[in-house]
Amino acid sequence: MKLHPAATRLLRRRLGPGVVRTDAPSLDAASFDGMKIPFPPEAVIFPRTREDLGEVLKLANERRVPVTVRGRGTSLTGSAAPARGGWVVDLLGWNRVRIDREAGLAQVEAGARVADIHRAAEERGWFYPPDPSSKEYCTIGGNIACNAGGMRGGKYGVTRDFVLALKGFLPTGEFVQWGTPTRKFAAGFNLRDLWIGSEGMLGIVTDATLKLIPKPAARWTLLASFSNEAAAFRAVRALFVERIQPSICEFLDRYSVVCAERATGATVFEGQPGRPVVLLEIAGSASEVREQKPLVIAWARRHASAHRAARSPAEAESLWEVRRKCSGAMFELGDSKLNEDVVVPMSQYVTFARFLDRLRRDSGLAIPTFGHLGDGNVHVNIMYHGADRGECRAAEKAVGMLMKTVVELGGAISGEHGIGLAKTPFLKVQHSAAQIGAMQAVKKALDPRGILNPGKMFEPFHVWKHKRLAIRLPWDHK
Ligand SMILES: Cc1cc2nc3c(=O)[nH]c(=O)nc-3n(C[C@H](O)[C@H](O)[C@H](O)COP(=O)(O)OP(=O)(O)OC[C@H]3O[C@@H](n4cnc5c(N)ncnc54)[C@H](O)[C@@H]3O)c2cc1C
Repeated sequence: MKLHPAATRLLRRRLGPGVVRTDAPSLDAASFDGMKIPFPPEAVIFPRTREDLGEVLKLANERRVPVTVRGRGTSLTGSAAPARGGWVVDLLGWNRVRIDREAGLAQVEAGARVADIHRAAEERGWFYPPDPSSKEYCTIGGNIACNAGGMRGGKYGVTRDFVLALKGFLPTGEFVQWGTPTRKFAAGFNLRDLWIGSEGMLGIVTDATLKLIPKPAARWTLLASFSNEAAAFRAVRALFVERIQPSICEFLDRYSVVCAERATGATVFEGQPGRPVVLLEIAGSASEVREQKPLVIAWARRHASAHRAARSPAEAESLWEVRRKCSGAMFELGDSKLNEDVVVPMSQYVTFARFLDRLRRDSGLAIPTFGHLGDGNVHVNIMYHGADRGECRAAEKAVGMLMKTVVELGGAISGEHGIGLAKTPFLKVQHSAAQIGAMQAVKKALDPRGILNPGKMFEPFHVWKHKRLAIRLPWDHK
């Protein structure tokens, strides 16, 4: 990997030693994200002002230094890891949140934590729906860059549906603003939406205006258990056919239930051990929730083996907490995980459930699966032991089969985590050569020197060939 000591020294002279850090702890902390495969950077930069950030990008272009912008590093695909070294820009200090109560908007800086935006909005009677399970850690900049979703996506949509305007820097160092803090904007090409989901490769977001909705006055949670996964998938399809629209519709297969119970010490459904469950939340005005409740209970009586409603908000929260801890709870099944957030059309749910049974049998691997059935975003976790070559090969084959199958079923290889490094071998499963060529042309036009987050998206990377750090991150949970 090419090093740039002279450019780093020059940047430090221009911005100051506190802004440009090269000490080992700073470099180590910025070398990896939630995928835990490290790539050492040469410096970590904590810009104080817009001018600092512009200076970083201008010098990086001049000297061809790779730049990777980082939020909280919760990405599970390696998208925040500096794959080509160079400089990491850390924006965690840019974390202001201001709620415009009258207009129902949030003005936020890129490093603001998503949970802080939720709390600030809700204190003022407003609501920001996108809720990734990592919300207590991840930043809105990272959410915008990955077009993050979450449990409420089926009813309300994902990050893209709430971003009105963005400010930030082009890779070449010019400051730009896409959109205005208004609910409508049709002036020119929509490059705001091009930035959303661009995984830090087309620009650096510094500020965003988010649209808020009125905070739902009432919520109600129901837990339903099923005899097997196909029955759960079939039941969820029926829910939507009956036009019941839950605010959340989460699925945990039997393997995820067991892992989550062991990790949290909680029992997901008393008397229904080791059965797949669906967790539903109905939210809205008090009268909307009152109307929907009997419909949901009738649905559960028809389709579920057992069901029960949460008796209190605290009990509902404990059920959601079990779901949120699912992802980190799987590591007792293997030290390595291919966490594939695929999307499957609702009409194909049952076919997909049968495919997963076959995949488990054929690969011999544990593949706990959970996810957001309100929008078809199923998280398939292929667990393996990194030191076991047979398991690595089985995992590689299983992920290939999974990607091919979801695309054949009319779905997507990623619903919310993005491509990063982990999914690069499968971009061509989803996209034709012409489509990939068009994406590369956009990248070239906005970032002619290829300095922003290089090595991602288009260059195949094979996760199983790399050693992961054996560390626990704050969000891995016990
Ligand atoms: C336990 C756990 C649960 C998760 N659950 C969900 C979930 O429910 N839904 C979901 O969508 N994701 C989920 N994720 C994935 C992850 O939290 C999201 O992708 C999140 O958006 C990343 O935010 P971050 O601040 O950590 O960004 P990082 O991980 O630091 O960065 C992610 C990407 O965004 C880019 N980026 C960061 N900031 C900026 C910026 N200011 N401008 C331009 N680009 C930027 C980076 O370069 C990188 O490409 C989960 C992760 C974990 C560990």
